[in-house]
Amino acid sequence: MGFNRQNGELYCESVALSSIAQEYGTPTYVYSRATLIEQYNLFNSAFHDHPHLVCYAVKANPNLAILNQFARLGSGFDIVSGGELQRVLAAGGQAGKTVFSGVGKSEDEIRLALNHDILCFNVESSEELLRIDAIAQSMKKQAPISIRVNPDVDAKTHPHISTGLKSNKFGVPWQEALQLYQQASNRPALRTVGIDCHIGSQLTDPLPFAEAASRIMELVDNLGRMGIQLDHIDFGGGVGIRYKEEAPISPTDYVSALMAHLGKYKHQILIEPGRALVGNSGILLTRIEYLKQGEDRRFAIIDAAMNDLIRPALYDAWHTIEPVRERSIMPRHYDVVGPVCESGDFLGKNRLLSVETGDLLAILSSGAYGMSMSSNYNSRLRPAEIMVDNDTCFLIRKRETFNELIQGESLAP
Ligand SMILES: *Cc1c(COP(=O)(O)O)cnc(C)c1O
Repeated sequence: MGFNRQNGELYCESVALSSIAQEYGTPTYVYSRATLIEQYNLFNSAFHDHPHLVCYAVKANPNLAILNQFARLGSGFDIVSGGELQRVLAAGGQAGKTVFSGVGKSEDEIRLALNHDILCFNVESSEELLRIDAIAQSMKKQAPISIRVNPDVDAKTHPHISTGLKSNKFGVPWQEALQLYQQASNRPALRTVGIDCHIGSQLTDPLPFAEAASRIMELVDNLGRMGIQLDHIDFGGGVGIRYKEEAPISPTDYVSALMAHLGKYKHQILIEPGRALVGNSGILLTRIEYLKQGEDRRFAIIDAAMNDLIRPALYDAWHTIEPVRERSIMPRHYDVVGPVCESGDFLGKNRLLSVETGDLLAILSSGAYGMSMSSNYNSRLRPAEIMVDNDTCFLIRKRETFNELIQGESLAP
Protein backbone atom coordinates (compact mmCIF):
# COMPACT_ATOMS: atom_id res chain seq x y z
CA MET A 1 0.00 0.00 0.00
CA GLY A 2 0.98 3.63 -0.27
CA PHE A 3 4.43 4.25 -1.70
CA ASN A 4 6.51 1.12 -2.15
CA ARG A 5 9.41 -0.29 -4.18
CA GLN A 6 9.05 -3.11 -6.67
CA ASN A 7 12.23 -4.37 -8.39
CA GLY A 8 14.08 -1.21 -7.38
CA GLU A 9 11.42 1.09 -8.75
CA LEU A 10 9.17 3.39 -6.72
CA TYR A 11 5.44 2.82 -7.02
CA CYS A 12 2.31 4.49 -5.71
CA GLU A 13 0.11 1.52 -4.82
CA SER A 14 0.28 -0.59 -8.02
CA VAL A 15 1.31 2.19 -10.40
CA ALA A 16 4.96 2.89 -11.30
CA LEU A 17 5.75 6.56 -10.75
CA SER A 18 7.75 6.47 -13.99
CA SER A 19 4.57 5.68 -15.91
CA ILE A 20 2.82 8.64 -14.28
CA ALA A 21 5.70 10.91 -15.32
CA GLN A 22 5.48 9.56 -18.85
CA GLU A 23 1.75 10.10 -19.15
CA TYR A 24 1.24 13.34 -17.21
CA GLY A 25 4.69 14.98 -17.17
CA THR A 26 6.48 16.55 -14.23
CA PRO A 27 6.38 18.15 -11.72
CA THR A 28 3.28 16.32 -10.52
CA TYR A 29 1.81 15.65 -7.10
CA VAL A 30 0.81 12.00 -6.64
CA TYR A 31 -1.50 10.87 -3.83
CA SER A 32 -2.32 7.37 -2.62
CA ARG A 33 -6.03 6.92 -2.01
CA ALA A 34 -5.43 3.88 0.17
CA THR A 35 -3.17 5.91 2.48
CA LEU A 36 -5.72 8.72 2.77
CA ILE A 37 -8.39 6.22 3.76
CA GLU A 38 -6.09 4.38 6.15
CA GLN A 39 -5.08 7.57 7.98
CA TYR A 40 -8.67 8.73 8.31
CA ASN A 41 -9.75 5.36 9.65
CA LEU A 42 -6.95 5.36 12.24
CA PHE A 43 -8.28 8.56 13.81
CA ASN A 44 -11.93 7.74 13.34
CA SER A 45 -11.89 4.23 14.76
CA ALA A 46 -9.81 5.23 17.80
CA PHE A 47 -12.92 6.87 19.30
CA HIS A 48 -14.79 3.53 19.33
CA ASP A 49 -18.40 4.41 20.16
CA HIS A 50 -17.70 7.76 21.80
CA PRO A 51 -19.51 10.55 19.90
CA HIS A 52 -16.98 12.37 17.75
CA LEU A 53 -16.31 14.14 14.49
CA VAL A 54 -13.01 14.19 12.62
CA CYS A 55 -12.89 17.61 10.93
CA TYR A 56 -10.23 17.47 8.22
CA ALA A 57 -8.29 20.77 8.09
CA VAL A 58 -8.91 21.77 4.49
CA LYS A 59 -5.90 24.08 4.24
CA ALA A 60 -3.51 21.12 4.37
CA ASN A 61 -4.70 20.01 0.92
CA PRO A 62 -7.93 21.42 -0.53
CA ASN A 63 -8.15 19.44 -3.78
CA LEU A 64 -11.81 18.59 -4.43
CA ALA A 65 -11.08 14.89 -4.91
CA ILE A 66 -9.37 14.73 -1.52
CA LEU A 67 -12.21 16.60 0.21
CA ASN A 68 -14.69 14.31 -1.54
CA GLN A 69 -12.79 11.23 -0.38
CA PHE A 70 -12.98 12.38 3.24
CA ALA A 71 -16.63 13.41 2.86
CA ARG A 72 -17.45 9.91 1.64
CA LEU A 73 -15.81 8.50 4.76
CA GLY A 74 -18.11 10.67 6.88
CA SER A 75 -15.55 13.34 7.71
CA GLY A 76 -16.31 16.86 8.83
CA PHE A 77 -14.12 19.81 7.88
CA ASP A 78 -12.20 22.64 9.50
CA ILE A 79 -12.14 25.70 7.25
CA VAL A 80 -10.41 29.06 7.53
CA SER A 81 -12.08 31.01 4.69
CA GLY A 82 -15.22 31.34 2.60
CA GLY A 83 -13.31 29.83 -0.30
CA GLU A 84 -12.64 26.70 1.72
CA LEU A 85 -16.35 26.46 2.61
CA GLN A 86 -17.24 26.65 -1.08
CA ARG A 87 -14.70 23.92 -1.80
CA VAL A 88 -16.21 21.68 0.88
CA LEU A 89 -19.68 22.18 -0.62
CA ALA A 90 -18.43 21.66 -4.19
CA ALA A 91 -16.79 18.41 -3.08
CA GLY A 92 -19.98 17.04 -1.52
CA GLY A 93 -19.05 17.78 2.09
CA GLN A 94 -21.66 18.86 4.61
CA ALA A 95 -21.80 22.41 5.99
CA GLY A 96 -23.42 20.93 9.09
CA LYS A 97 -20.16 19.07 9.78
CA THR A 98 -17.95 22.10 9.14
CA VAL A 99 -16.29 24.32 11.75
CA PHE A 100 -14.97 27.75 10.76
CA SER A 101 -11.65 28.81 12.35
CA GLY A 102 -9.43 31.82 11.68
CA VAL A 103 -8.78 35.24 13.21
CA GLY A 104 -10.02 37.40 10.33
CA LYS A 105 -13.47 36.22 9.25
CA SER A 106 -14.98 38.89 6.99
CA GLU A 107 -18.66 39.91 7.04
CA ASP A 108 -19.23 38.17 3.71
CA GLU A 109 -17.64 34.97 4.98
CA ILE A 110 -19.76 35.00 8.14
CA ARG A 111 -22.91 35.56 6.07
CA LEU A 112 -21.99 32.72 3.70
CA ALA A 113 -21.37 30.37 6.62
CA LEU A 114 -24.66 31.32 8.32
CA ASN A 115 -26.55 30.84 5.06
CA HIS A 116 -25.22 27.31 4.80
CA ASP A 117 -25.80 26.48 8.49
CA ILE A 118 -22.30 25.40 9.41
CA LEU A 119 -21.70 23.40 12.58
CA CYS A 120 -20.07 26.36 14.37
CA PHE A 121 -17.79 29.37 14.26
CA ASN A 122 -14.58 28.92 16.22
CA VAL A 123 -14.52 32.49 17.54
CA GLU A 124 -11.10 34.06 18.00
CA SER A 125 -11.85 37.49 19.57
CA SER A 126 -14.54 39.50 21.33
CA GLU A 127 -14.89 41.79 18.30
CA GLU A 128 -15.53 38.77 16.11
CA LEU A 129 -18.19 37.57 18.56
CA LEU A 130 -19.97 40.93 18.28
CA ARG A 131 -19.72 40.88 14.48
CA ILE A 132 -21.22 37.38 14.27
CA ASP A 133 -23.98 38.43 16.68
CA ALA A 134 -24.87 41.51 14.59
CA ILE A 135 -24.90 39.58 11.31
CA ALA A 136 -26.95 36.73 12.78
CA GLN A 137 -29.50 39.26 14.09
CA SER A 138 -29.75 40.95 10.71
CA MET A 139 -30.33 37.55 9.08
CA LYS A 140 -32.81 36.51 11.79
CA LYS A 141 -30.68 33.47 12.51
CA GLN A 142 -28.98 32.01 15.53
CA ALA A 143 -25.22 31.55 15.10
CA PRO A 144 -23.61 28.46 16.69
CA ILE A 145 -20.37 29.50 18.36
CA SER A 146 -17.42 27.91 20.08
CA ILE A 147 -14.66 30.02 21.61
CA ARG A 148 -11.15 29.21 20.45
CA VAL A 149 -9.14 29.43 23.63
CA ASN A 150 -5.43 30.12 23.60
CA PRO A 151 -4.20 27.81 26.37
CA ASP A 152 -0.71 29.40 26.47
CA VAL A 153 1.25 26.17 26.13
CA ASP A 154 4.47 25.77 24.23
CA ALA A 155 3.91 23.31 21.39
CA LYS A 156 7.71 22.96 20.99
CA THR A 157 7.42 23.02 17.24
CA HIS A 158 8.76 25.45 14.63
CA PRO A 159 7.89 29.05 15.71
CA HIS A 160 6.05 29.72 12.43
CA ILE A 161 3.63 26.84 13.07
CA SER A 162 3.20 27.33 16.82
CA THR A 163 -0.18 28.89 17.62
CA GLY A 164 -0.98 28.27 21.29
CA LEU A 165 1.39 30.66 23.02
CA LYS A 166 0.03 33.90 24.45
CA SER A 167 2.35 35.76 22.06
CA ASN A 168 0.51 34.23 19.05
CA LYS A 169 -2.38 35.96 17.27
CA PHE A 170 -4.68 32.96 17.67
CA GLY A 171 -7.55 32.39 20.06
CA VAL A 172 -8.89 34.20 23.10
CA PRO A 173 -6.62 34.45 26.15
CA TRP A 174 -7.37 31.65 28.57
CA GLN A 175 -8.16 34.12 31.38
CA GLU A 176 -10.75 35.99 29.27
CA ALA A 177 -12.59 32.99 27.91
CA LEU A 178 -15.19 32.67 30.69
CA GLN A 179 -16.10 36.33 30.40
CA LEU A 180 -16.62 35.93 26.66
CA TYR A 181 -18.84 32.88 27.19
CA GLN A 182 -20.88 34.92 29.68
CA GLN A 183 -21.24 37.68 27.09
CA ALA A 184 -22.27 35.18 24.41
CA SER A 185 -24.86 33.54 26.64
CA ASN A 186 -26.66 36.89 27.02
CA ARG A 187 -27.11 37.30 23.29
CA PRO A 188 -30.11 35.45 21.85
CA ALA A 189 -28.68 35.44 18.31
CA LEU A 190 -25.75 33.32 19.54
CA ARG A 191 -25.90 29.69 20.61
CA THR A 192 -22.93 28.41 22.58
CA VAL A 193 -22.19 24.91 21.33
CA GLY A 194 -18.55 24.22 22.06
CA ILE A 195 -15.05 25.09 23.11
CA ASP A 196 -11.99 24.87 20.90
CA CYS A 197 -8.21 25.08 20.85
CA HIS A 198 -5.42 24.47 18.37
CA ILE A 199 -1.88 24.90 19.64
CA GLY A 200 0.25 24.35 16.56
CA SER A 201 1.28 22.03 13.79
CA GLN A 202 3.74 19.15 13.40
CA LEU A 203 3.71 18.39 17.14
CA THR A 204 5.75 15.32 17.92
CA ASP A 205 5.73 15.56 21.72
CA PRO A 206 2.44 14.45 23.34
CA LEU A 207 2.95 16.65 26.41
CA PRO A 208 1.72 19.98 24.96
CA PHE A 209 -1.49 18.25 23.80
CA ALA A 210 -2.03 16.99 27.35
CA GLU A 211 -1.37 20.43 28.85
CA ALA A 212 -3.80 22.10 26.46
CA ALA A 213 -6.44 19.43 27.08
CA SER A 214 -6.28 19.84 30.85
CA ARG A 215 -6.57 23.63 30.55
CA ILE A 216 -9.61 23.21 28.31
CA MET A 217 -11.22 20.75 30.74
CA GLU A 218 -10.66 23.23 33.55
CA LEU A 219 -12.69 25.76 31.57
CA VAL A 220 -15.40 23.17 30.89
CA ASP A 221 -15.66 22.68 34.68
CA ASN A 222 -16.00 26.40 35.23
CA LEU A 223 -18.54 26.81 32.44
CA GLY A 224 -20.63 24.05 34.00
CA ARG A 225 -20.64 25.96 37.29
CA MET A 226 -21.79 29.06 35.42
CA GLY A 227 -24.66 27.05 33.96
CA ILE A 228 -23.25 27.09 30.42
CA GLN A 229 -23.59 23.71 28.73
CA LEU A 230 -21.64 22.71 25.65
CA ASP A 231 -22.33 20.06 23.01
CA HIS A 232 -18.75 19.47 21.96
CA ILE A 233 -15.11 19.92 22.84
CA ASP A 234 -12.76 20.56 19.92
CA PHE A 235 -9.11 19.73 20.59
CA GLY A 236 -7.87 21.06 17.23
CA GLY A 237 -5.24 19.56 14.96
CA GLY A 238 -1.48 19.47 15.00
CA VAL A 239 -0.54 15.79 15.20
CA GLY A 240 2.87 15.53 13.52
CA ILE A 241 4.08 13.07 10.92
CA ARG A 242 7.40 11.44 10.19
CA TYR A 243 9.41 13.43 7.66
CA LYS A 244 12.81 12.14 8.76
CA GLU A 245 13.36 10.53 12.14
CA GLU A 246 10.52 12.03 14.15
CA ALA A 247 8.47 9.61 16.23
CA PRO A 248 5.16 11.46 16.52
CA ILE A 249 2.33 10.28 18.73
CA SER A 250 0.15 7.78 16.85
CA PRO A 251 -3.43 8.77 16.00
CA THR A 252 -4.68 5.98 18.27
CA ASP A 253 -2.63 7.07 21.28
CA TYR A 254 -3.51 10.69 20.63
CA VAL A 255 -7.25 10.01 20.62
CA SER A 256 -7.00 7.74 23.68
CA ALA A 257 -5.20 10.50 25.58
CA LEU A 258 -7.92 13.01 24.69
CA MET A 259 -10.64 10.65 25.83
CA ALA A 260 -8.83 10.10 29.11
CA HIS A 261 -8.86 13.87 29.69
CA LEU A 262 -12.65 13.95 29.34
CA GLY A 263 -13.03 12.10 32.62
CA LYS A 264 -16.68 12.09 33.67
CA TYR A 265 -17.80 14.22 30.73
CA LYS A 266 -19.69 12.77 27.79
CA HIS A 267 -19.29 15.60 25.28
CA GLN A 268 -18.85 14.91 21.61
CA ILE A 269 -15.15 15.30 20.74
CA LEU A 270 -14.00 17.11 17.62
CA ILE A 271 -10.47 17.01 16.25
CA GLU A 272 -9.05 18.92 13.29
CA PRO A 273 -6.16 16.92 11.81
CA GLY A 274 -4.71 18.14 8.53
CA ARG A 275 -1.10 17.08 8.05
CA ALA A 276 -1.56 13.71 9.76
CA LEU A 277 -4.30 12.77 7.26
CA VAL A 278 -2.62 13.80 4.03
CA GLY A 279 1.10 14.47 4.62
CA ASN A 280 2.45 11.00 3.98
CA SER A 281 -0.27 10.24 1.42
CA GLY A 282 1.46 12.35 -1.23
CA ILE A 283 4.76 12.88 -3.02
CA LEU A 284 6.02 15.44 -5.49
CA LEU A 285 7.32 13.74 -8.63
CA THR A 286 10.02 15.70 -10.42
CA ARG A 287 12.74 15.24 -13.04
CA ILE A 288 16.38 16.27 -12.95
CA GLU A 289 17.00 18.87 -15.66
CA TYR A 290 20.71 19.31 -15.08
CA LEU A 291 23.51 18.14 -12.85
CA LYS A 292 25.87 21.01 -12.22
CA GLN A 293 29.26 21.11 -10.55
CA GLY A 294 29.64 24.35 -8.63
CA GLU A 295 32.88 25.58 -7.10
CA ASP A 296 32.44 23.65 -3.88
CA ARG A 297 29.21 21.71 -4.23
CA ARG A 298 27.17 19.79 -6.74
CA PHE A 299 23.64 20.74 -7.69
CA ALA A 300 20.82 18.60 -8.98
CA ILE A 301 18.59 21.13 -10.73
CA ILE A 302 15.05 19.77 -10.93
CA ASP A 303 11.85 20.89 -12.64
CA ALA A 304 10.05 21.47 -9.31
CA ALA A 305 10.82 24.51 -7.20
CA MET A 306 9.98 26.50 -4.08
CA ASN A 307 6.81 27.74 -5.74
CA ASP A 308 5.57 24.12 -5.94
CA LEU A 309 6.71 23.08 -2.44
CA ILE A 310 7.73 25.96 -0.21
CA ARG A 311 8.24 24.15 3.11
CA PRO A 312 12.04 23.76 2.80
CA ALA A 313 12.48 27.44 1.88
CA LEU A 314 9.92 28.65 4.42
CA TYR A 315 10.75 26.60 7.50
CA ASP A 316 13.92 24.79 6.59
CA ALA A 317 11.73 21.68 6.52
CA TRP A 318 13.23 18.31 5.62
CA HIS A 319 11.67 16.18 2.88
CA THR A 320 13.28 12.85 2.05
CA ILE A 321 14.23 12.73 -1.63
CA GLU A 322 14.54 9.40 -3.41
CA PRO A 323 15.32 8.43 -6.99
CA VAL A 324 12.34 6.73 -8.62
CA ARG A 325 14.71 4.11 -10.13
CA GLU A 326 17.71 2.89 -8.22
CA ARG A 327 21.00 3.09 -10.11
CA SER A 328 24.18 1.25 -9.31
CA ILE A 329 26.52 4.20 -9.77
CA MET A 330 28.63 6.02 -7.22
CA PRO A 331 26.40 8.17 -5.00
CA ARG A 332 27.35 11.83 -4.67
CA HIS A 333 26.17 14.69 -2.51
CA TYR A 334 23.86 17.17 -4.20
CA ASP A 335 21.92 20.26 -3.26
CA VAL A 336 18.56 19.59 -4.87
CA VAL A 337 17.40 22.95 -6.21
CA GLY A 338 14.74 24.37 -8.52
CA PRO A 339 14.85 26.85 -11.41
CA VAL A 340 13.49 29.80 -9.39
CA CYS A 341 15.73 32.86 -9.09
CA GLU A 342 16.19 32.81 -5.30
CA SER A 343 18.95 31.24 -3.24
CA GLY A 344 16.21 29.95 -0.93
CA ASP A 345 14.93 27.80 -3.78
CA PHE A 346 16.01 24.39 -2.56
CA LEU A 347 14.09 21.19 -1.86
CA GLY A 348 16.93 19.46 -0.03
CA LYS A 349 20.57 20.15 0.77
CA ASN A 350 23.57 17.87 0.71
CA ARG A 351 21.64 14.73 -0.27
CA LEU A 352 23.47 11.55 -1.19
CA LEU A 353 22.02 10.38 -4.50
CA SER A 354 22.98 7.99 -7.30
CA VAL A 355 21.48 9.89 -10.21
CA GLU A 356 22.01 11.07 -13.76
CA THR A 357 20.50 13.93 -15.72
CA GLY A 358 16.93 13.10 -16.74
CA ASP A 359 16.27 10.84 -13.74
CA LEU A 360 13.03 11.10 -11.81
CA LEU A 361 13.02 11.98 -8.11
CA ALA A 362 10.24 11.64 -5.55
CA ILE A 363 10.06 14.29 -2.84
CA LEU A 364 8.34 12.38 -0.07
CA SER A 365 5.78 13.47 2.55
CA SER A 366 4.50 16.27 0.33
CA GLY A 367 0.75 15.68 0.63
CA ALA A 368 0.22 18.41 3.24
CA TYR A 369 1.03 22.10 2.76
CA GLY A 370 2.54 21.29 -0.64
CA MET A 371 0.09 22.12 -3.42
CA SER A 372 -1.97 24.21 -0.99
CA MET A 373 0.92 26.64 -0.44
CA SER A 374 2.06 26.66 -4.07
CA SER A 375 2.25 29.87 -6.07
CA ASN A 376 2.97 31.08 -9.59
CA TYR A 377 6.20 32.83 -8.62
CA ASN A 378 8.47 33.22 -11.66
CA SER A 379 5.30 32.67 -13.78
CA ARG A 380 5.63 28.97 -13.25
CA LEU A 381 2.56 26.89 -14.02
CA ARG A 382 1.19 24.91 -11.11
CA PRO A 383 1.76 21.13 -11.16
CA ALA A 384 -0.80 18.50 -12.05
CA GLU A 385 -2.25 16.31 -9.27
CA ILE A 386 -2.96 12.59 -9.60
CA MET A 387 -4.82 10.32 -7.24
CA VAL A 388 -3.85 6.66 -7.49
CA ASP A 389 -6.37 3.99 -6.57
CA ASN A 390 -4.68 0.58 -6.76
CA ASP A 391 -3.77 0.28 -10.46
CA THR A 392 -5.76 3.29 -11.67
CA CYS A 393 -4.71 6.95 -11.95
CA PHE A 394 -7.18 9.81 -11.72
CA LEU A 395 -6.11 13.24 -12.91
CA ILE A 396 -7.61 15.30 -10.06
CA ARG A 397 -6.14 18.59 -11.22
CA LYS A 398 -4.72 19.20 -14.65
CA ARG A 399 -1.48 21.04 -15.11
CA GLU A 400 -2.04 24.77 -15.29
CA THR A 401 -1.75 26.40 -18.71
CA PHE A 402 -0.27 29.76 -19.66
CA ASN A 403 -3.74 31.05 -20.59
CA GLU A 404 -5.03 30.17 -17.12
CA LEU A 405 -2.02 31.91 -15.64
CA ILE A 406 -2.77 35.30 -17.25
CA GLN A 407 -6.54 35.01 -17.25
CA GLY A 408 -7.96 38.00 -15.41
CA GLU A 409 -5.08 40.27 -16.29
CA SER A 410 -5.45 43.11 -18.77
CA LEU A 411 -3.46 45.99 -20.16
CA ALA A 412 -3.89 49.57 -18.94
CA PRO A 413 -4.30 51.42 -22.27
C1 LIG B 1 -3.86 24.43 10.45
C2 LIG B 1 -4.94 24.13 11.41
C3 LIG B 1 -5.27 22.81 11.68
C4 LIG B 1 -4.55 21.62 11.11
O1 LIG B 1 -3.25 21.54 11.57
P1 LIG B 1 -2.37 20.21 11.23
O2 LIG B 1 -1.09 20.49 11.89
O3 LIG B 1 -2.25 20.16 9.76
O4 LIG B 1 -3.09 19.07 11.80
C5 LIG B 1 -6.33 22.57 12.54
N1 LIG B 1 -7.02 23.59 13.12
C6 LIG B 1 -6.72 24.89 12.87
C7 LIG B 1 -7.50 25.95 13.52
C8 LIG B 1 -5.67 25.20 12.03
O5 LIG B 1 -5.36 26.47 11.79
